Amino acid sequence: MSRTPVLEVNNLSVGYETTKGLLEAVRKVDFSVYENEIVGLIGESGSGKSTLAYALMRLLKNGAKVTGGSVKVLGQDIYNMDPETLRKFRWSSISMVFQSAMNALNPVMTVEQQIIDTLRFHNPNISKKAAFEAACELFELVRIDPSRLKSYPHELSGGMRQRVVIAIAIALKPKFVIMDEPTTALDVVVQKSILDQIMELKEQLGFSILFISHDFSLVSEIADRVAVMYSGRLVEVADSDTLSTPEGHHPYTEGLIHAIPRLTDKHTKLRGIPGNPPALDKIPSGCAFHPRCKYAEAACFTEAPPIVKTEHHSIVECHLHAKVGGARV
Ligand code: SF4
Repeated sequence: MSRTPVLEVNNLSVGYETTKGLLEAVRKVDFSVYENEIVGLIGESGSGKSTLAYALMRLLKNGAKVTGGSVKVLGQDIYNMDPETLRKFRWSSISMVFQSAMNALNPVMTVEQQIIDTLRFHNPNISKKAAFEAACELFELVRIDPSRLKSYPHELSGGMRQRVVIAIAIALKPKFVIMDEPTTALDVVVQKSILDQIMELKEQLGFSILFISHDFSLVSEIADRVAVMYSGRLVEVADSDTLSTPEGHHPYTEGLIHAIPRLTDKHTKLRGIPGNPPALDKIPSGCAFHPRCKYAEAACFTEAPPIVKTEHHSIVECHLHAKVGGARV
């Protein structure tokens, strides 16, 4: 059965202008997110996840620019939209939950003002009463008592602030929401309740999610598919069901899986991945992961790895998988 994509990313590259020249943080990335799907995007800090997220919203910061490829949301190329069309399209069709709720909210405005501003910006004819009622409904949806609408961000707990940011992101019922580390800095109990809430809202309102995190166990719990990013490339895209077995994956994914602590493991040492991701101006030749990869062989040092489909139904970018018979994509 064919599925309808809400997001189609083709050959996307994003670079930063620096004193060392243009350095690419996202390198020729291809992937899609389909209707009602949650795709998890994981990778260590500096892998290019947030740069990719901002590029999908066409919200890249100064010095960053798309250097190739395209981004279509609901079939529309967002880099071909005029600014006014894009302004209306954002939040009503694609929205984003930004990292760190405290920074995403305006500290000198009540949360009510901030929600109503979002509603009125996109619908200037909405009456004050209707906007207030919509804000109350949104608070009920994210399980905050509407009496807290009059609060300033600093008067709310971390979990409540994150719920307010989610309420603003879904205020105009978008079909696609990017969540950039939405539960980072929250304790595990609050984290769990926010995750449950995200799942409930997704079912209720029917939007798709790109869920970005560096926490592999969190992502594999919530996502239908997981995309693994390393040094600006998507090195594996897999169904989250297949991630319960560490074998058969990209060596980087395998390392991430082995680094997850398990309740059933007694007295076992966690096996982290040695080394660090490369800096943007020092991306190794061949496979960028080769300095950290225990399977690296001659070709890995000089040749870019091919993309292959594995018997575990993952799409993996690795010489090793091509050698053991993975079909080239
Ligand atoms: Fe390791 Fe080579 Fe595969 Fe890269 S291509 S992940 S270095 S085996």
